[in-house]
Amino acid sequence: MSELFEAVFCGEVAADADPERVRRELEDLGVLSAAQSNEAFAGRPVVLREGLTREQADKFARALESAHARCQVLSGAWHACPACHFPQERGDECSKCGLIFAKRRERDLPPVRTRREIAADLHDIGYKKSLDDGAPADG
Ligand SMILES: [Zn+2]
Repeated sequence: MSELFEAVFCGEVAADADPERVRRELEDLGVLSAAQSNEAFAGRPVVLREGLTREQADKFARALESAHARCQVLSGAWHACPACHFPQERGDECSKCGLIFAKRRERDLPPVRTRREIAADLHDIGYKKSLDDGAPADG
């Protein structure tokens, strides 16, 4: 079985096109429902077609291009950038905004704090006894 593709659209239009006109045209063509069009033109990826062969997907993308809209043709394992929502194949870096995904994942984790830091915070908000009654503070 050959790989299947999806056509994903997130509101990208040709540089000289009016997004409102493109939006109306896509809705008139039945490519986008009103709800999908709201999502896409807010910059969030919408899957327009799935289960396409590469050939079908490219044909679909060309059809959209004639309506001044740009979609991404992606294999099933795509994801959206957490910062700009641009849909893309898995990789290390966002092809749109350049976000390094590994760094973003690191930043999203809560910072590791020492017991002393937590105790200091508790002290600041009035917990005088803080954590001193337990095991000795580390760090
Ligand atoms: Zn991005």
